[in-house]
Amino acid sequence: MGANAATSSLVSQEVLAVLVKYFDVDFSFLRYNDHSIRASILVAEWPLRPDVPDPDPLRVVYYRDADPVFALAEHVKTPMVFRPENAEYQKRIEEGRNLPQTSMAAAPLKSGDVTTGVLGFVRIGDREWEPVELNALEAIASLFAQVQARVQAEERLRHLAVHDDLTGLRNRRALLDHLEERLKADRPGPVSALYLDLDRLKTVNDYLGHNVGDWFIRVIAERLQRGVDDAGVVARLGGDEFVVIPSSPMSAAEAEQLANRLLAIVGERVPVAGEMLTRTASIGVALGEPGRDSTSDLLRRADQAVLEAKAEGGNQVAVFSDEMSLRTDYRNDIELHLQEVIENGALFLQYLPEVDIRTGEILATEALVRWNHPTRGLLSPAVFIAVAESINLAGDLGRWVLRTACEEFARWRALGVAEGIVLRVNVSPVQLVTDGFVETVAAVMREFGLDTGSVCLEITESVLVQDLEATSITLAGLRDVGVQLAIDDFGTGFSVLSHLKSLPVDVLKIDRSFVADLGSNRDDLAIVRAVIALAEAFELELVAEGVETVAAAETLLHHGCHRAQGFLLSRPLNGEEMVSLLGEGRVPVHFSTTPSL
Ligand code: C2E
Ligand code: CA
Ligand code: CA
Repeated sequence: MGANAATSSLVSQEVLAVLVKYFDVDFSFLRYNDHSIRASILVAEWPLRPDVPDPDPLRVVYYRDADPVFALAEHVKTPMVFRPENAEYQKRIEEGRNLPQTSMAAAPLKSGDVTTGVLGFVRIGDREWEPVELNALEAIASLFAQVQARVQAEERLRHLAVHDDLTGLRNRRALLDHLEERLKADRPGPVSALYLDLDRLKTVNDYLGHNVGDWFIRVIAERLQRGVDDAGVVARLGGDEFVVIPSSPMSAAEAEQLANRLLAIVGERVPVAGEMLTRTASIGVALGEPGRDSTSDLLRRADQAVLEAKAEGGNQVAVFSDEMSLRTDYRNDIELHLQEVIENGALFLQYLPEVDIRTGEILATEALVRWNHPTRGLLSPAVFIAVAESINLAGDLGRWVLRTACEEFARWRALGVAEGIVLRVNVSPVQLVTDGFVETVAAVMREFGLDTGSVCLEITESVLVQDLEATSITLAGLRDVGVQLAIDDFGTGFSVLSHLKSLPVDVLKIDRSFVADLGSNRDDLAIVRAVIALAEAFELELVAEGVETVAAAETLLHHGCHRAQGFLLSRPLNGEEMVSLLGEGRVPVHFSTTPSL
């Protein structure tokens, strides 16, 4: 009897047809027990009963409602024979089926001690069942039982292959299959995907243990399933990530609405370990067009959207946009090439002069990194530094910048044009907290023979206060090896004002957003004046960034700030350009110190 899950019912029917002939009977049936719901389920019968409506009322019989004879099939262990002299049996048959006298032999299907089904043969009128026939019947029933066991094992395996163990939801593979089907060219669209990621589930695991975490995930799974009802597929991708695919096409707005509804359901409190827990989630929504978008396109977009939702603080829905797609392409490209670029030299430095705007004299120069990208042109560090930081390349990149800048600067010194000039180098927050950073800086200074005070590292304001104690130690170490320290973008971060006194810094660089409109914006002027006063009080040098207008330069001069950089004074220059400017020693300036504002 070769049969698998799909064909077993048909094959059983064929076998029954043969047996009906062999035993010379009128009907036969094969039924399986489902003990979990206490029911008997018709698997095959012969002959077919064309007059039976669909669904057949006898296809599923619940034992608690069944007549006493039928009910025997639930736990019967040996073959049973019923003949017309059994009055109770006959009465039932006549009432139920409108049949004349019948006789029946039935043998149990067994798996160990459990009765897994029943195989029965019915003759209209009376029939005697010889012991040898009953033995044959028992043997056949045991073959059917074996097939049944194999079929069920196969079904279980198939279920396991496409379902998630923990939640019983579909798994990744089932989701991919489903989407593959939904995104075929002639299917209705758009197909929406809702990618749900629980916010900070890790803390549940960490504080309450993995069992609680698992329980929590199961509750969320049930809620999602209930929230979606029959109107979609819910899958768990593993961890705390779920994907919902609504079964009908819907617009982005409708999908967003559904996402918001699910977000509310998921966010309801969950009783765990005697406490009430709430966890929010983030949902990314994306739409796929059948015939155009692939399964991975759709999931990637939904994933990207959920990342944006998380980046916005979580507990919200984000719908994928074209803008996001540009960002991802860009980012992927940068990620892909940055490592090799650091090693193979598509990076280079430009230098932005810092000028005394009273005289035009060059006081310092800031190294700014650039990437000459083969297809995207000149890339701004504002873009790729963030990527480098997110993929742990900031350290490599920062070392390259520091070394290259110091090497070039030492050459200018050797040429005799950079005496008394300070080299300023930007430092990523990540670098600052890297082990051995102070030693690296010291080694580079030594290697190129740069003396105390000739190099200044620029650190943005916000990073300084994040871990004040640790950064203070690093900053003190850097001071000891002879570098100066500047607070970059001063005024934009969490204020370091209250710590200015204790931080070992030398320079404040006032952020260009306050400088740009100086001369026309009185609010900015108030801030700039406050910063100037602050710098004086703490005896710090003050540099104004982003001087673009004469009005800004004159306002700064008028209020006593005379160190500045900006496009009005000079654009960022290549190394050779910087050398020749240093050779001249100054940029032309003629600002009045009595500005209009
Ligand atoms: P930043 O440290 O504030 O650098 C000054 C930025 O302002 C530079 O942009 C410069 O070109 C620009 N700038 C100068 N004058 C003006 C002006 O008058 N108007 C305007 N609109 N902009 C002006 P850039 O080179 O694009 O650098 C952007 C940021 O990237 C830098 O801001 C710095 O935070 C970061 N960065 C640059 N090079 C490095 C580096 O080697 N390492 C690290 N960690 N960060 C770097
Ligand atoms: Ca800077
Ligand atoms: Ca800055």
